Amino acid sequence: MPGKVYLVGAGPGDPGLVTLRAKELIERCDALVYDYLANPDLLQWTKVGCEKIFVGKQPNLHAISQEEIEKILVKRAKAGESVVRLKGGDPFVFGRGGEEAETLQKDGVPYEIVPGVTAALASAAYAGIPLTHRNFSSSVSFLTGHEDPEKHEMHVDFEQFATVGGTLCIYMGMGHLAEITARLLKAGLSGETPVAIVQWATTPRQRSLLSTLAKVATAKEEAGLSSPAVVIIGEVAKLSTKIGWFEQRPLFGRRVVVTRSREQASELSAALTMLGAEVLELPLIEVAEDAESTGEDIWPSLGAYRWLVFTSPNGVKYFFEKFHRKFDDLRCIGGVRIACVGETTAQAVREQRLVVDLVPDEAVSESLAEALLREETLENETVLVVTGNRNRDVLIGKLEEGRAIVDAFPVYRTELTDLSGHPAATRFRDSGADAITFASSSAVDGFVQQAKNLLPGPGARRPKGVAIGPKTAARMREIGLPVDRLAKQSSIEGLVKAVQSLWD
Ligand code: SAH
Repeated sequence: MPGKVYLVGAGPGDPGLVTLRAKELIERCDALVYDYLANPDLLQWTKVGCEKIFVGKQPNLHAISQEEIEKILVKRAKAGESVVRLKGGDPFVFGRGGEEAETLQKDGVPYEIVPGVTAALASAAYAGIPLTHRNFSSSVSFLTGHEDPEKHEMHVDFEQFATVGGTLCIYMGMGHLAEITARLLKAGLSGETPVAIVQWATTPRQRSLLSTLAKVATAKEEAGLSSPAVVIIGEVAKLSTKIGWFEQRPLFGRRVVVTRSREQASELSAALTMLGAEVLELPLIEVAEDAESTGEDIWPSLGAYRWLVFTSPNGVKYFFEKFHRKFDDLRCIGGVRIACVGETTAQAVREQRLVVDLVPDEAVSESLAEALLREETLENETVLVVTGNRNRDVLIGKLEEGRAIVDAFPVYRTELTDLSGHPAATRFRDSGADAITFASSSAVDGFVQQAKNLLPGPGARRPKGVAIGPKTAARMREIGLPVDRLAKQSSIEGLVKAVQSLWD
């Protein structure tokens, strides 16, 4: 079976802007050939065993020539591999995808082209610039500041484009901006023509600038903007101040660390990302099902417990996985009453279509035990506490003090993640962050245990500390972490608000 090469547009940077087709191919391919414009997050989608080949194309720094890249594609496909050649933006817009396709065609290698969101479209959208507008522009031109990054000379007839009207989008134009603008001015384009520059569009590093044709070359130097950036010239550029949305989000430009432990972090990360933050997820602890604990001693008496108590969403997840493996009818859970330590855990139970009978006001073990004991006397009542392999003693101790008969059912285990080569940990060590969030005291413990893998290097920004609740804050202070904000409400929403309040 001959292999195939897929020339795939990786979009401008934000992984959310990759096509479904691209994602599907990245997930399935045997080899992934990529360069520096492709977001490293996309590499995580590959299957185990997929070979990732960096063909680092950076201006002035050419690791592998175009010819060599084409050779890699041909050779691998001929060996029967499914090869994804990931290219920033769209493969057929200033990406030499045309040359690669020609070579594949010539060598009889089957191929497919998957378009992507090209940088000009992305830059315009994320800087709030409509490329066409009934009042201002009815055409768009895509130009390149230099055709071939290896040959630093320009072939575009800028003089002609000074007279075509409409919107001009210049790729790879940063190196020659002064020369380009001078030629456009000389050919008659007004010095007052609005010009926008959008660097690292769609990523948390995006920066943009609005100027005029006469001033933009100097303004660019002053602002320190450089490649990769698209220069947008035309009346529409001035609309960016009116309809900018991306850089105006409240947490834009802030890097926030989400320390992941037992709690599901995705909800917190998603909320912070939506507000514009660059989120670094540090998975301090890994959670896995406790396979040794099968529940065989628990299942026969499941229906006889008075209370079923969950202390984390992971507990809920793994309990029901085990439960459904054993039973095919939800009614086998019996008439037991259900208590949860906090709202996030309760939500996980409700997703199982079960009603939660008790959630304490404060999401900590002590409050859960107190609330249970206040609800009714537990003397000689049986309670099943679903747990992991840590942090269960307080709750069980308190319930036993109240004379309940408590069984613990450990359904998952937590272990330290290997952070030595982890990309988020590396970024944290190298350049730090603006804030670090802790959603539980066990996350603080995980952070301490991982401390040697997280030591900030010289020049790394020291983050402000944000705690979800009093117990987490206390644990942070104990180990010497600053608590700059404490969430008013012990929930993910409360934590997000606390982060926002750092910069209100
Ligand atoms: N095939 C790519 C273009 C590759 S040429 C595409 O369709 O987008 C490289 C140039 O693309 C850069 O010099 C810059 O002008 C532009 N570019 C790529 N990614 C960009 C980004 N995230 N923000 C702004 N410009 C970008």
